[in-house]
Amino acid sequence: MSGGPDRRIAVVTGASSGIGAATARRLAAEGFDVVAAARRTDRLQALASETGCRAVTLDVTDAASVDALAGRLESCSVLVNNAGGAFGLDPVASARDEDWQRMYDVNVLGTMRVTRALLPLLVASGDGVIVNVTSTAGHAAYEGGAGYNAAKYAQRAMTEALRLELCGQPVRVTEIAPGMVATDEFSLVRFDGDAERAKAVYAGVPGPLVATDIADCIAWVVTRPWHVNIDSMIVRPRAQAAAHKVHREPVS
Ligand code: NDP
Repeated sequence: MSGGPDRRIAVVTGASSGIGAATARRLAAEGFDVVAAARRTDRLQALASETGCRAVTLDVTDAASVDALAGRLESCSVLVNNAGGAFGLDPVASARDEDWQRMYDVNVLGTMRVTRALLPLLVASGDGVIVNVTSTAGHAAYEGGAGYNAAKYAQRAMTEALRLELCGQPVRVTEIAPGMVATDEFSLVRFDGDAERAKAVYAGVPGPLVATDIADCIAWVVTRPWHVNIDSMIVRPRAQAAAHKVHREPVS
């Protein structure tokens, strides 16, 4: 895949739902040639017919799948490492190894694998931008969050190290750390499909962030002039002053 002289290729991982889908839509509207990647190809195809982006099946936990994505691209100017998520809300005392391993694999190793594979193309573009979607969970711990906190802190550390390593090369590196974003699936995935528990996360919160708010931030970051590197953006809803400090109104 080649973006042509005027259309820069932007790869968005985790584009089949939530923040990734909103980002793919928004970057397509900004004129990027968007490669929307995730595991659920049917959803990507629907997004592709709606926006003109290209659908590529990708599992960021599978090195062969990541290599296959890289092999299909002739160029790449923007990489949004958004695929990720939380599994469970157990305290350390009853933590499940499997949940922690999955969180580390998708959020940390997944970001590393896709970045490593696409870095030569990003450098060759002459003005590459990498946006890693971390979380405020990577800035402050909370009870029950340890596994997700550890993964997001690690993803954030990788982002900082990468920026140091690339200093002097034509690639910018940004971390976007959202607070509470009401997406359809994030909490459902976290609570293994328990819809009631997922709904309770956002109950009574006036104006949680929505996926398009984060897509807006990503679009802004990647459309700054080549010399402007936005290191980090922490974005929360007004009702959330900290992970623990969430204003809720009575739910009738
Ligand atoms: P969603 O659950 O809606 O989206 C997660 C996306 O990641 C899906 O498109 C999913 O697609 C994809 N994904 C999951 N595993 C893999 C994999 N192994 N390979 C490729 N893609 C994968 O959640 P959000 O949109 O809310 O979250 C997006 C990002 O934002 C995540 O990194 C999350 O940690 C972060 N975040 C979310 C917040 C929130 O409150 N919602 C707050 C802060 C950060 P598929 O299943 O088709 O592969």
